[in-house]
Amino acid sequence: MSTELEKTYSPQNVEDKIYDFWMKNNYFHAEIDKSKKPFTIVIPPPNVTGQLHMGHAFDETLQDILIRYKRMCGYSALWLPGTDHAGIATQIKVEAELREKEHKTRYDLGRDAFLERVWEWKEQYGSRIINQLKKLGSSCDWERERFTMDEGCSKAVKEVFVNLYNKGLIYKGSRIINYCPHCKTALSDAEVEYEEQGGFFWHIRYPVKDSDEYVIVATTRPETMLGDTAVAVNPEDKRYRHLIGKTLVLPLVGREIPVIEDDYVDKEFGTGCVKITPAHDPNDFEVGKRHNLEEIIVLDNEAKINENGGKYKGLDRYEARKIMIEDLKALGLIEKIEPHDHNVGTCYRCKTTVEPLASEQWFVKMKPLAQPAIEAVKNGSIKFVPDRYANSYLHWMENIRDWCISRQLWWGHQIPAYYCDACGEMVVSKDEVKVCPKCGASMHQDEDVLDTWFSSALWPFSTLGWPENTADLEYFYPTNVLVTGYDIIPFWVARMIFSGIEHTGKEPFDTVLIHGLIRDSQGRKFSKSLGNGIDPLDIIKDYGADALRFMLVTGNSPGNDMRFYIEEVLAARNFANKIWNAARFAKTYLTIDKVELPEKLEIEDKWILNEYNKAVKEIRENLDKFELGVAAQKLYDFIWDKLCDWYIELIKPRLFETNTDKATNISAQQVLCYVLTNTLALLHPFMPYVTEEIWQSLPHDGDALIIANYPEFSEELVFDKAGKEMENVMALIKEIRRVRKEMDVPASKKTTLLIETENEETYKDGTAFIQRLASASEIVIGKIDTTEGKVGAITADAKAYMPMGELIDIEKEKARLQKEIDRLNSEIERVNKKLSNEGFVAKAPQNVIDAEKQKREGYQKTLENTEKVLEDLLKL
Ligand SMILES: [Zn+2]
Ligand SMILES: [Zn+2]
Repeated sequence: MSTELEKTYSPQNVEDKIYDFWMKNNYFHAEIDKSKKPFTIVIPPPNVTGQLHMGHAFDETLQDILIRYKRMCGYSALWLPGTDHAGIATQIKVEAELREKEHKTRYDLGRDAFLERVWEWKEQYGSRIINQLKKLGSSCDWERERFTMDEGCSKAVKEVFVNLYNKGLIYKGSRIINYCPHCKTALSDAEVEYEEQGGFFWHIRYPVKDSDEYVIVATTRPETMLGDTAVAVNPEDKRYRHLIGKTLVLPLVGREIPVIEDDYVDKEFGTGCVKITPAHDPNDFEVGKRHNLEEIIVLDNEAKINENGGKYKGLDRYEARKIMIEDLKALGLIEKIEPHDHNVGTCYRCKTTVEPLASEQWFVKMKPLAQPAIEAVKNGSIKFVPDRYANSYLHWMENIRDWCISRQLWWGHQIPAYYCDACGEMVVSKDEVKVCPKCGASMHQDEDVLDTWFSSALWPFSTLGWPENTADLEYFYPTNVLVTGYDIIPFWVARMIFSGIEHTGKEPFDTVLIHGLIRDSQGRKFSKSLGNGIDPLDIIKDYGADALRFMLVTGNSPGNDMRFYIEEVLAARNFANKIWNAARFAKTYLTIDKVELPEKLEIEDKWILNEYNKAVKEIRENLDKFELGVAAQKLYDFIWDKLCDWYIELIKPRLFETNTDKATNISAQQVLCYVLTNTLALLHPFMPYVTEEIWQSLPHDGDALIIANYPEFSEELVFDKAGKEMENVMALIKEIRRVRKEMDVPASKKTTLLIETENEETYKDGTAFIQRLASASEIVIGKIDTTEGKVGAITADAKAYMPMGELIDIEKEKARLQKEIDRLNSEIERVNKKLSNEGFVAKAPQNVIDAEKQKREGYQKTLENTEKVLEDLLKL
C-alpha cells in the first residue's frame, strides 16, 4: 500500500485498488473459529436477472456497515451472498428475448431447450449483479456465493417438499387461486396487489322458472354468470323465503339453477340475492362446497371465455362482458347499472387484473406452520426493528391462508411428484421415479415448478449446507440479523421464519432490521414509467461508492422511507475530501511512526480526546441499536466540526516549525495521529475505501483497517472538567467571531478584548487561542468599568467587549447599514406585492408561496437586527 496521499482525493483511483487489496488478502472470508463468536447475515438474494438499483444499494450498504462493524469487533463475521433464480421474472426476460430475436415462444423450443436457454442466459448475466455489488464495497464472503437453483439449494428444496408432503403439510387440491392471464400462472396471495378501480354494479334479473317473478342479483363481473350454479339468499330474509328451493333460469345460458339459503349472504347488502359462481370466486367456492354445487370454469388460461360459455366462447373476458350486457339489455334483464369503485386484485409483476379461478394446485397447509412462527415473534425470540413491523407480520400470519406453491412455469424447481401414465398413481420422491410402483407403467414428473419463494424461504440454512449437518451450519446458524425492506415481510421474512423453525428447529435469525423504500427527491417511487431512475453505478462512477453509501445511511432511521437528493451525495463527497485534506495536512507535519498517546496532555488534547471518547461510546451504542443514521451523523459532526475545524486549528502553532518546544510538538502529533487513525476506524464501516486508503498512509498497527479493532470507550480518556473549560473558551471565540462577522469586520483587523467572567483561570489558559482565533490584539481579563461604546459578545460563561472605534470606521459603517436597510425594505415590498397579487396566489403551488413567505420572514429578521446595530451606532 502506498504511503503517499494524492493531492486531491479521487475515488476512481482508490476504490478498485482497495477492493482488490481486500480480496487478495481474503479479508471477507469468515473462518470457523471456535475462539470467536460468529456473526452471520445472509444477503436477500437479488434476482439473477437483476441490475443494481438504488433499493439494493441501500439494502447492501446497511448490511455491509453491520458486517464490517462486527468484523472489527472481533466476530467471525460472515456475510453470505448469492442470487435468486426468480422464476417468473427470469422466464419473462428470456421469453421476451426469444420473441424479439427469433420470433419464437417457449412452446416452439420445448421445455428442455428453453431451460437450456435460460441457463445460458444465467451464465451470461448472472454475474452482472454480483459485480455491481462489489463496486459498492460489499464485503461478502464470495467463496460461499450461492444460487437458489444450485445443487445444494435444490437438494434442500426437494428434502423440504418431501418432508412436508409426508407430514401431510403439502397437499394437492382444487382451490380458488389468483390467476394472472398475462403471466399464465397462479399467484400466491402475497403476489396480488389491490388497487381501487372504477367499475359498475350490474343489476341483472334472473327469471324464476314457470313464473313471471324474477330475482335481482348485482355483480361487478357479469361475464362470470356463465358459470353460476345457484343464487343464494339469507335464511332469515323474509323477502325471499317463498323462493327457497325454487328454480331459476340462468339468462343467456338457459341452464336451470336452484335458489339456496346460506348464512354467508348479507341481507342488507345489495338486493340480498347473491349469484354463486364456485369456480370464480373464493367465497362462492366455499358456498359451493357446502351445497355440493358444480364448479363450472368459464375462462381459459388467457382469460378468454371457454367452451362452457356457449356462444361467447373465444371472447376476451372484457369483450364478453360488453356483449353480454348488450344481450341482457335487449332481453330486458338489466334492472339498473350503478357506478361502483371496488378493490381489484392485480398481478404484482405485470399489473394485469387477476382472475380468481378454481384450479388443481399444490398447497402448503399454513395454520400448523404459522403457529410456532407467531410464537417466536410474540415471545421475543425474533425481534423486529422497528418493532411496529412485528404487528404487520403477526397480522399477516394470524390471517394466513394455505400457500399455493405451484406455478405454471418452466424455470424453477420442478415439483418432485410423479404420475403414472397408466393407473394415475402419484409418488412424491426426492429421487426421480420412472416406473409406477403399482402397475409398472412409466411415470412422468409434475409439469409445474415451485413458487420462487419456496426456495428463498430456506435461504438462511440451505446456503449453509442443510440438510447435511455441515460445520458451517453448526457454527454460523442460526444467523443474526436479516436486513430487508418492509415490502417483502409476507413474501419472504414470514416464510423464512416458519421454514427455519419447522426444518431446523431453530429460528433462522434473532433480528429483522426493516428499512423503508428509497424515493426520488419529490417522494415518488423510482420507476421505469416515471423515468426518474438513478443508476447507483453512475453515482459511484462520478462521486465514489463511499459518498453514495454515506448519503444512503445519513438521516435514515429504521423502517422509514427516505428520499434521494444528489445534493446530499455531493455533501458526502465533500466530507470524504475534508478527511482527505485533514490527513494530508497532518502528514505534512508528522515525524512520528507509531500511534501512542503522550504522557503529558494539553487542555485542547484533553478536550478532543474526551470528545472522541464520547463519540466512540455513543456510536457503538447507536450501531448496537441499529441506529445507523444517527451514528453517521455523529461521525460527520465529530470529524468535520470538532476534529478538522477546531482541533487542527487549535494545535497548528504546536505543529509548525516555529514551535521550538519539542515536547508539545511531539505530543500534538501523537494526539492528532491517535484521534485521526481511530476516527478512520470508527468511520470505516460507513466509508470503507477512503478510510482504508488514508489509514494505510498514516502510522498504524496491523495490516489493514478492515480487520483493525473497532475503537472502544476508555475510562482513561475521560476529561470532563478540562473538556468543559475548553468548550467555554471555544464558545466565546465563536460568539466573538459571529459578532465581528455581523459587523462586517475583516479577520485581519485586530482588536483589544476585555473579558469579564467568574472563571478567570479558564480564560487565562485560553488566551493564546482567543488571541489567534478571535482576532484579538490584546486580552484583558477583569472587571469592565463601562460598556459604553463597546460591542459585546456574550456567552453563558463570559462577557467579552470590543471597543467600537478599533473595529470600524463609524461613519462608513453607518452608511453601509443604512444602504442595507433600504435594500431589505425594497425586497420586503417586492414579496408583499407578489403575495397580494391574487392571480399569483391562485395559480402558484403552495410550496412556492411558502418559500416566498419564508424569504420575507428572513428579510424581516435581518432588517430588525440591522436596525438595532445602527441604533447602537447612532447613540455614540
Ligand atoms: Zn402477471
Ligand atoms: Zn401405475
